[in-house]
Amino acid sequence: MKLPINTDLSGKVAVVTGAGGVLCGMFAKALALAGAKVAVLDLNEEVAAEVAKAITEEGGIAQAYKANVLEKENLEEVRRMINQELGSCDLLINGAGGNNPKATTTKEYYETGDLEADTISFFDLDPAGVEFVFNLNFIGTLLPTQIFAKDMLGKAGCNILNISSMNAYTPLTKIPAYSGAKAAISNFTQWLAVHFSKEGIRVNGIAPGFFSTKQNAKLLFNEDGTPTPRTGKIMAATPLGRFGESEELLGTLLFLLNNEAASFITGIVIPVDGGFSAYSGV
Ligand code: NAD
Repeated sequence: MKLPINTDLSGKVAVVTGAGGVLCGMFAKALALAGAKVAVLDLNEEVAAEVAKAITEEGGIAQAYKANVLEKENLEEVRRMINQELGSCDLLINGAGGNNPKATTTKEYYETGDLEADTISFFDLDPAGVEFVFNLNFIGTLLPTQIFAKDMLGKAGCNILNISSMNAYTPLTKIPAYSGAKAAISNFTQWLAVHFSKEGIRVNGIAPGFFSTKQNAKLLFNEDGTPTPRTGKIMAATPLGRFGESEELLGTLLFLLNNEAASFITGIVIPVDGGFSAYSGV
């Protein structure tokens, strides 16, 4: 991996949640390349260990931790271990998040008869599924911040980075809970930035647009490689006319964490989206 900009994170301890996943695994590797000691946190211990191993094999410093962003006591315990093994946290990337089928409608629009049909309409959304998605994204950002921002108090150069989404600007169809939760993340990013301003902790966010990854390949492309109707819609709404490559998020990540380049920036969420959030469609 080649880093797009120079941000020296030597000596910093970076805690990354959801770091066994596609995007935050890559973030963890980038932070290690920039010199940070990386705590790789994930509910799934195996994927966290794989990311930490990949980092150490490349000569970086990383340690994997099984962590649940929804369990405060577990996070306290993980914080104690990180403090002993890597040091106190300077950078927190709140990456754990996602949607759930139980909080997803089958169709984009309600149409006559859907109430009786064998599909999940708005009326069938499971409150437990909606709650799960809200909690994973919002409480899963709030709790790690409550735990790890304690390490940042009275210390210079600390940063928190949250992961929002295009859904925060205008909700995508079918996923009301995820959309609402990500809107809450963008709002919370501003709130935290103000709240921690006197401590000098900068708090910002990234709102990724549409990225083609192994995970969503089946949604976006047919087996013969031709684009699905969903891909057609995304392309029509993306002025730059293509999917993003995950690595294209790294410039924004390293810029926001750079205490020289972004020293006066706090409380913003940067869309990295090929123009999706700027385009009205007309
Ligand atoms: P991913 O599913 O690949 O990774 C998420 C990781 O979080 C997984 O490794 C999972 O095990 C972990 N996780 C789930 N529940 C957890 C919990 N309770 N505690 C700790 N870890 C938990 O997702 P991704 O695509 O890498 O997305 C990362 C972030 O970016 C998410 O917040 C997601 O909502 C956001 N996002 C992704 C995209 C995209 O295109 N992939 C776009 C916009 C926003």
